[in-house]
Amino acid sequence: MSGIYGKYNSYEELYEEVKKLEKEKRFNHTLGVVSVAEELAKLNNYDVSKARLAALLHDCCKNLSDEDKDEFIKKYNIDLSRFGNVDQIKHGPIGAYYLKYVFEIEDEDIFNAVYYHSTGRPDMSTLEKIIYLADFLDPGRDRTGYEENYLKIKDLSYNNLDDGLFMTLERTMYYLKLKWPDNICDDSKNTYEYYKNLRESNN
Ligand code: FE
Ligand code: FE
Repeated sequence: MSGIYGKYNSYEELYEEVKKLEKEKRFNHTLGVVSVAEELAKLNNYDVSKARLAALLHDCCKNLSDEDKDEFIKKYNIDLSRFGNVDQIKHGPIGAYYLKYVFEIEDEDIFNAVYYHSTGRPDMSTLEKIIYLADFLDPGRDRTGYEENYLKIKDLSYNNLDDGLFMTLERTMYYLKLKWPDNICDDSKNTYEYYKNLRESNN
């Protein structure tokens, strides 16, 4: 199979698969991410079908039971050691391998967009930035106490992906340092440092 939908024939078929894998609340979030990803793709002349597909898949393993996750990780020999005990970000890499091995989707950019959707990474592709931001900008997310930040980041992101990305990374790093100062994954730190340095050298 070589189409972007892997062993499926269409977006609609995959939509049904993901709907089965996710709880209702999670799936509603996914649909919010899909809608933002479509808008950001259009604004950046990026392939809308690809952005929509990556958004649909980004949390596909978030609701797998621990047993199913363990079984999948063992079966395909997936190494998650670089994430240490930061469990909340492991559904990204697991989801990336799931879309590769189970859905048979071979697109590398989609793989990376799903893999790094919680942490980002240095030198992200346009699709990686779109999914990272769309995940944050899901209009259904509870913003109690954060409305102002959300509107600022939304405004920046819709004007320029890199500006939106940098503010999101800054906010996220601030929040992580406050909540889990000793438990921040290297990918998150490296992403923030990379984009901070890039900005400083451009100013
Ligand atoms: Fe996620
Ligand atoms: Fe998400």
